[in-house]
Amino acid sequence: MIRLLLALSLPFFGALFAAEVPVAQAVFGANQYVEYLPGELPLVIAAPHGGLLKPKSVANRSYGVVDSDANTQDLGRRIAAEVKKQSGKSMDLIISHLHRSKLDPNREIKEAAQGDKTAEKVWHEYHGFIDQALKASVARHGRTFFIDLHGQNHKDIRVELGYMHRVEDLAKPREEINSATFIKTGSMELISQLNPTSSYADLLFGPDSLGAMIEQRGFQATPSPRMVVPTEPYFRGGYTVGRHVKADAHVAGLQIEANRIRLRDSPENRQRFAEALVQALRVYVPQWLKAEL
Ligand SMILES: [Zn+2]
Repeated sequence: MIRLLLALSLPFFGALFAAEVPVAQAVFGANQYVEYLPGELPLVIAAPHGGLLKPKSVANRSYGVVDSDANTQDLGRRIAAEVKKQSGKSMDLIISHLHRSKLDPNREIKEAAQGDKTAEKVWHEYHGFIDQALKASVARHGRTFFIDLHGQNHKDIRVELGYMHRVEDLAKPREEINSATFIKTGSMELISQLNPTSSYADLLFGPDSLGAMIEQRGFQATPSPRMVVPTEPYFRGGYTVGRHVKADAHVAGLQIEANRIRLRDSPENRQRFAEALVQALRVYVPQWLKAEL
């Protein structure tokens, strides 16, 4: 159907469409170690730690974290399917298929690939697909929202929303959190610019924050009105969000760390969370990013 529509459009929009990847058709890197599903919405999600492949031709990483984030590849696909179901359109999804013992795309290249040439190539492809997805999405919508999707197994069972702010920074007085210098250290600067009459503290943990919207739909989250300052350990966001989320590139976003118990542990729970998160994003993104999902 999509091909047919593109074919019909070609006489009219040939120059426009010819250079574009057809929507929702998977694109792969070398050896199919990275998968990119292009979309058409102001939403791009990457799943770096749900890869299952352990080819002998790629050396094992000898330091750093080598455990995968169980079921996060499936969770990413369920979120993409739910976006399609709820909005009728596709979002962009980038998946690393290499197991984390072979490549950690959420680290700078030295720790990520540890000198293995294939792993280095895959790392470049993975971040290249994210760049491509974000650029295409910004070209369409003027701005876009990026989520780096992970899984954690911390004792305090909640979804961790990482805006790059440390626990001790989230504990600071609201006045300091609302200051321009503080906002610059996080991943929501673009949204702050788009909402000059809202406070940054409200964006992070107010009644209309993403944490609040996720909690309203049955999953505990932090930062949120219930838990403004996360208990430790807490993941605040890493290499990928730091590299790709920039206000001057018109990208806002965060790292989402999904808990295992009652969320990643069964297909039913993953589906429940995918539905809840997409419902929340379909309120959150129009309200804060001023872009329709
Ligand atoms: Zn992870």
